[in-house]
Amino acid sequence: MNNFSDRVSRIRVSSTIAVTIEADRLRADGADLTDFGAGEPDFPTPEHIKQAAVAAIAANFTRYTPAGGTTELKKAICAWHTRELESAYSPAETIVTVGGKHAIFNTVSALLNSGDETILPVPYWVSFRDIVEYTGGVCAYVPTREEDGYELTTAAVERAITPKTRLMILNSPNNPSGAVVRPEVMEEIAHLVTGRDIWLMTDECYCHLVYDSKPFSLGKLAASDPGVRRRLVVAGSLSKTFAMTGWRMGYALAPKELIGEMLKLQSHSTSNPTSIVQKAAMAALTGSMDSVDAMRREYQQRRDFVVAGLRSIPDIVCPMPSGAFYAYPNIGKYLRLNGTKTASDLCTRLLREAGVVVVSGEAFGTNEHFRLSYAASMEDLAKGLDRMRKFFAAF
Ligand code: PLP
Repeated sequence: MNNFSDRVSRIRVSSTIAVTIEADRLRADGADLTDFGAGEPDFPTPEHIKQAAVAAIAANFTRYTPAGGTTELKKAICAWHTRELESAYSPAETIVTVGGKHAIFNTVSALLNSGDETILPVPYWVSFRDIVEYTGGVCAYVPTREEDGYELTTAAVERAITPKTRLMILNSPNNPSGAVVRPEVMEEIAHLVTGRDIWLMTDECYCHLVYDSKPFSLGKLAASDPGVRRRLVVAGSLSKTFAMTGWRMGYALAPKELIGEMLKLQSHSTSNPTSIVQKAAMAALTGSMDSVDAMRREYQQRRDFVVAGLRSIPDIVCPMPSGAFYAYPNIGKYLRLNGTKTASDLCTRLLREAGVVVVSGEAFGTNEHFRLSYAASMEDLAKGLDRMRKFFAAF
């Protein structure tokens, strides 16, 4: 028996990270892997952002800043969000965090009491579940249908509401499915949920990575609808948009009273996001968006290539993802063959026998899928698809 806290015993190491650990182990033994496991851009951070960090070091901008971020950066976040996504937030309604995950962690911690229910559409990004459970909350899962491209419906959300519902988490574009909820449906859900006095956290960290529509934020609705605004949290991140995963820079936009509670937590845990990174974020948000557009175009080509490749493998079904950089194929037909029972078994075999790293759908709440991140070079994608074709042909 260990004597660790109940809180921490309720959660597990992120399974997306567990895959990375296993792949690293095989790589260290000399394995040649094509890695579609990690959910991060393969592009370098744009040059003007890197140079701003270098300049910040040279100028000795290396001390503590206010725990919730500098005022200049909060202003830049609000101005960028207004320009790009038509929201209307002020610095008092903004907190700068150590990556988007930190914004989510602080939001959930500030909102949930033990036993409170959180509506979570399936498939879900694994950290949502564990963060909710860490705080003592309970997830109320809402299924989506593969046939509908995993799009969420307002009716399904409504069915999940109970007197104990305190929060809903909406993530569009979705990790892992790449599904994008249409703006009108997002607005309908926002009205439904906030109208019942339930908090809505919209995780929009992939909102600039959409291929069949324009970037959209519920912050736009909050700008004109006070009822929605008083119960809405917009969680954002620079990680994916600006290829800055390692820098750790995120933010939340929310009513100032909630921001105050999140700040309390932050002031006793991380304190401020790294001073130098705050300067880099200034450069990202006030600079040109050309590099973001260029990355998006590249991801779109990769998406089309990868989905066509997966669909060409017999018995693999793959809906077209409209955003983020993930494909989420159904491999159910292969699970009843050759003693391979679960998606995890299949992913382990794919890794060990074909050298292809993907993440089992079980990590995201479904049983017959895997997640493939196409934030990888075309060359690697072609090589990985070729390996998968051979692996499934010999199954
Ligand atoms: N939200 C979703 C849905 C994600 O997929 C991720 C990262 O993978 C994050 C939030 C957090 O990103 P970060 O903490 O790097 O900003």
